[in-house]
Amino acid sequence: MRPAWLPVAVLAASVVACSRDSAPPVAPAGGATAHTVAANRAVAESLPLGDPHAFEDARRGFIGSDSPVRIPGPEGRAAWDLEPYAFIQGVAPPTVNPSLWRQAQLDSQHGLFEVVPGIWQVRGYDLSNMTLIEGNTGWIVVDPLTVAETAAAALALARKHLGDRPVSAVIFTHSHVDHFGGVDGVLPPGPSSVPIIAPAGFLDEATRENVLAGVAMGRRALYMYGSGLPRNATGHVDAGLGKGVPFGSIGIREPTVLIDRTPQPMEIDGVRFVFQDAPHSEAPAALTLYLPDHKAWGSADLVPHTLHNLYTLRGTKVRDALEWSGHLDRALELFGDVEVMFGGHQWPVWGNERPLHPRPDAAAREPGLHVPRDRRAARVAVGAAHALRHARLLRHGATQRQGRVPGLLRLVRRESREPESVAAGRSRCALCGGDGRRREGARTGAGSARCG
Ligand SMILES: [Zn+2]
Repeated sequence: MRPAWLPVAVLAASVVACSRDSAPPVAPAGGATAHTVAANRAVAESLPLGDPHAFEDARRGFIGSDSPVRIPGPEGRAAWDLEPYAFIQGVAPPTVNPSLWRQAQLDSQHGLFEVVPGIWQVRGYDLSNMTLIEGNTGWIVVDPLTVAETAAAALALARKHLGDRPVSAVIFTHSHVDHFGGVDGVLPPGPSSVPIIAPAGFLDEATRENVLAGVAMGRRALYMYGSGLPRNATGHVDAGLGKGVPFGSIGIREPTVLIDRTPQPMEIDGVRFVFQDAPHSEAPAALTLYLPDHKAWGSADLVPHTLHNLYTLRGTKVRDALEWSGHLDRALELFGDVEVMFGGHQWPVWGNERPLHPRPDAAAREPGLHVPRDRRAARVAVGAAHALRHARLLRHGATQRQGRVPGLLRLVRRESREPESVAAGRSRCALCGGDGRRREGARTGAGSARCG
């Protein structure tokens, strides 16, 4: 039972706090307090917000778009509408974090874009991207967006500019609904002979997150994405990964081909793929794909242009940062000659020529990192942590290819790699078999011991 004195004590503490400090800052209606202005100014001064590179990447390869982008949804509501975001222009208003404002401007780029010849993306038609790969007989669709309405509109845009071709295959990169929910917008209703490729465990994980926990998670997602807020400089501005969450018809299809090992080569409609099974990364069931003839890596959601969640406010499974980073290392080993990376959100990154030159004193900005005394090793450790934190690993491909990759995992494991699993006589590590070196296709099963 709550003690009767508690409200009195709280009230007293409030009074004391009020009398000790000056009156709390009062913001003008719809405006920012002096504290918010100062905090936003500090952010602006600490970041290279004027760097045009991301804007150049976000606009590169533009082919065309609809104007306006307003996609009808069920119940007379819009499934997707970019018009309310037209206020995102110019410098950041005092109420908005300037980094978020910049991201909102980047996410406002919309339309059909050529990534490289043979690979296109529709961006800005949903929270996520639809990627189209040209096969011998039709389009290989990578991630058919969140709802059927946006997926159909994105595919129609592609057909308008690139030609009317059928969908010859669908790839679900992972078990999050924004990457499969719109499948009914790209495939005809009823049974289909179109192959559907997905990571092992896809159906189980998609069911767990979206059905068993679906109601609670859907409700929490409303708060996480701010879906109910008005679109303005004191309301909803952006969702980081994209403008926001669409409203519409969600579907799912059973995969016909599973990716359960790494590397897993496959030819789909005449196009060569090398798949990477990447479980327990950004999603519990996930894959990445490499197109060796295009030198293009589809990184799914493993390398976004934002600092991704390890534990989402909406309540997805907690993500394993160590295993996630291990999959990135593995991708760099396998696909090191990559020339373009495209993802499930935001814009691609081109080039493999920007090595990282981290300074050991940057360790001060990577709290918790165990930095080796050796200066050269320290550079690698700091660089690894920096790259993971800023999610731009592929830009540092040249550094990685100089044989430093195998050291990264060991160095960033810090002191948490306890020998208890061996000492206690438990089963050997499912990832490395006990020698600390990750085996190809190693998976973590429930209850198995792990090094990390
Ligand atoms: Zn996503």
